[in-house]
Amino acid sequence: MEENSIHVIGAGLAGCEAAWQAAGLGVRVVLHEMKPKKKTAAHRSDSFAELVCSNSLRSADVTNASGLLKEEMRRMGSLIMEACDSSRVAAGGALAVDRVKFSEYITNKIKSNPLICVEEEEVRRIPDDVIAVVATGPLTSEPLSEDIAHRLGDGLYFFDAAAPIVSFDSIDMTKAFFASRYGKGDADYINCPMNSEEYARFYRALVDAEEAPLHDADKDLKIKVFEGCMPVEVMAKRGEDTLRFGPMKPVGITNPKTGETYYAVVQLRRENDDGTMYNLVGFQTHLKFPEQKRVFGMIPGLENAEFLRYGVMHRNTFLNSPKYLSQDYSMRDDERIFFAGQMTGVEGYIESAASGFSAGINAALRVKKKEGVVFPRTMMIGAMAHYVSSGGENDFQPMNANFGIIASLEHKVKGGKRARYAAYAERALAECDKVRAVLDELRREAVDLNS
Ligand SMILES: Cc1cc2nc3c(=O)[nH]c(=O)nc-3n(C[C@H](O)[C@H](O)[C@H](O)COP(=O)(O)OP(=O)(O)OC[C@H]3O[C@@H](n4cnc5c(N)ncnc54)[C@H](O)[C@@H]3O)c2cc1C
Repeated sequence: MEENSIHVIGAGLAGCEAAWQAAGLGVRVVLHEMKPKKKTAAHRSDSFAELVCSNSLRSADVTNASGLLKEEMRRMGSLIMEACDSSRVAAGGALAVDRVKFSEYITNKIKSNPLICVEEEEVRRIPDDVIAVVATGPLTSEPLSEDIAHRLGDGLYFFDAAAPIVSFDSIDMTKAFFASRYGKGDADYINCPMNSEEYARFYRALVDAEEAPLHDADKDLKIKVFEGCMPVEVMAKRGEDTLRFGPMKPVGITNPKTGETYYAVVQLRRENDDGTMYNLVGFQTHLKFPEQKRVFGMIPGLENAEFLRYGVMHRNTFLNSPKYLSQDYSMRDDERIFFAGQMTGVEGYIESAASGFSAGINAALRVKKKEGVVFPRTMMIGAMAHYVSSGGENDFQPMNANFGIIASLEHKVKGGKRARYAAYAERALAECDKVRAVLDELRREAVDLNS
């Protein structure tokens, strides 16, 4: 076994965070990434930690589970949160980033860390005799997927979709207008409003539109979609009004010029700092590209929209983690192998980074033969780890951060859901400060030892 070094496979959200955290504890890291030589169907750029679909990392509010997870990560010294804060774009109550700046920030930090050595190569099997963090994501390349499936004897999957992006210049702003729901933030969203006749026409076209065929390898699989990233056409087929309670919800949106409210509204969120690109919020789709142009072109304001990227759908593979993983994300029957990221059944950018945080710290402590850090279930990062390692293995499903998985409060809180969530957040952040003190001490020891 190599002394004082670990291998991290995959420089995505989880892999970069894992590598950074391990290096922060004075451990050498070999980070293997198959880009730019080979790319998955969803990855485009050569940089690390690429955001493949939305540029939003969801809520920034600590009384929201995702917001709380971010604040915990920020306080504990997360690289991904540092990158978020340095590349943030305006998005009301959400944390959205300029995806190019975000990835560049992380790539530069990783490449200039003297303890991290980057190997640009595809890893085809789980390495022997080293401590490794496998963080190759939902689109892990075929040979490695096969090796993992062979080793575990089973695998799970679902389908995930991405939303289209259009150019700002091509949006007809005489029909669309800037505003935020309930006036939150600085009118950051572009809103395309519809009356009931326009909605009925659009709805019919959407449910009748032609879907793209699946890749050959995916054809035999029954389509199971993740509820949080469901294609808009699949959601529409659930009922005529479903979209009006989902991505086309009109409540809280008022035209600032006329004071009008609408039957349905499509919102577009800024993609980059310059505001030259916008994505259709909640419009992840699996329609054929010409159908996307035709049907989404029926949205008022998007009649002549230039599609900079069309929506796509991909298979997403994940492990039956409760069967195989411990709470520190290492394998129960082989403690030198850790998994991290979306492939462990955490769902989402920040959740993936959080599992990488935990796996990176614990892989580093393992190589140093020190006791691991188990994040308590009263923190959102610990609640995610607990869910992944002990959720029901017979019907395990990927999960976003949510307050349903955090440890219950010891006392009753009056004032409803909001007050309860605030109490969860207060308890979690108090706990987080204690864990941060432990991590800071470990980091200090590492610096003293290396100097
Ligand atoms: C189409 C699509 C849309 C999505 N949309 C969203 C969204 O809008 N919001 C959201 O929160 N999440 C979304 N997700 C989920 C998203 O993938 C995760 O949130 C996040 O990117 C997972 O991080 P990760 O580090 O686990 O994997 P990734 O970020 O995918 O990183 C994995 C890395 O491993 C590399 N790699 C793969 N195989 C190998 C190999 N054999 N050897 C070496 N390197 C390898 C890849 O090139 C990649 O860089 C989407 C996923 C897909 C597929």
